[in-house]
Amino acid sequence: MAFGWIDEQAESRRSAGLVRTLRPRPAESPLLDLASNDYLGLARHPDVTEAAARAARTWGGGATGSRLVTGTTELHTELERELAAFCGFEAALVFSSGYAANLAAVTALAPHGSLIVSDAGNHASLIDGCRLARGATQVVAHADPEAVRKALRTHDGPAVAVSDTVFSVDGDAAPLAALAGVCRERGAGLVVDDAHGLGVLGDGGRGAPYAAGLAGADDVVVTVTLSKSLGSQGGAVLGPARVIGQLVNAARTFIFDTGLAPAAAGAALAALRLLRGEPERAARARAVAGELHTRLTAAGLAAVRPDAAVVSVRAPSPESAVRWAADCRAEGLAVGCFRPPSVPDGISRLRLTARADLSGDQIERAVRVIGDTRP
Ligand code: PMP
Repeated sequence: MAFGWIDEQAESRRSAGLVRTLRPRPAESPLLDLASNDYLGLARHPDVTEAAARAARTWGGGATGSRLVTGTTELHTELERELAAFCGFEAALVFSSGYAANLAAVTALAPHGSLIVSDAGNHASLIDGCRLARGATQVVAHADPEAVRKALRTHDGPAVAVSDTVFSVDGDAAPLAALAGVCRERGAGLVVDDAHGLGVLGDGGRGAPYAAGLAGADDVVVTVTLSKSLGSQGGAVLGPARVIGQLVNAARTFIFDTGLAPAAAGAALAALRLLRGEPERAARARAVAGELHTRLTAAGLAAVRPDAAVVSVRAPSPESAVRWAADCRAEGLAVGCFRPPSVPDGISRLRLTARADLSGDQIERAVRVIGDTRP
């Protein structure tokens, strides 16, 4: 029977207690939210929601076409200009998601005959970029510039190293300056995904590459999402104008995809302007992460020291992680739960996001619930 094989997979998921289900989020949730990626609490800021509504009224509910046909509005070009300037890069290109931006950056910058050196902890979208690219991929040890150096030495011709700046599972940061150093030794490019760095790291939230002194470098390309700190939806690639021109002409997820909805572009632009005007938001997100980690550790929980706003707490097993997250929810706390196959190392975790707008009382309550429900 067609698709009959699915039943076997579904059964093994069911017996392991690892079935994923969709749960609509009520508009006014009673839960304390440490699960969303709204790091700066901007998704519901009135400037952001009003900008989205205004953009939809002005430009319509959708972009109406691909960016090269009818899908580019002045909101898209303004967002590109302001995002590039804020993060210190020459140019930027907006995509319909961070996922599409990563596919574009990796595929368009790794032609036939090239080498891609990819960190073992990279996000699925970078991994899929490697799978789609014409170049050959070598996966190297996590956060290990020496492993990148060795891999690059095996190859003559175009090469790129690809890494998250902040890894989405454990919240640890990549050694960006060292990675850029080993890439430069070999004339290789560096592509980094700053999904979890933008708005949190660097002066006023300018991102991890800015913090590492790599802003504006002619051999560094940065991808970001508009869906986390900027509280909207969409993605972007930032880098030298030469690279952005190449993406416009060669990246399939740019050329063949409908442009980002104007409402999302407008919302992201409003959020970026708020961030620029209120740089303390980024520092507050980092401080909340530090406080969460300190309190979790004091409570005897295995929390990983956060380098940005993602705080990871190790769980003994996949089943216990799923149960732990459900027990937190029953106590009024929403947390993320990462378990196989979403984690490359097979270690299950609760994943907490340190939002800049969490109060001291809320942090205390979250830690109490996580401690009280521990497996
Ligand atoms: N990169 C990383 C590191 C992410 O965590 C995510 C979002 N989960 C993405 C890329 C994809 O971004 P988007 O959700 O905008 O497609």
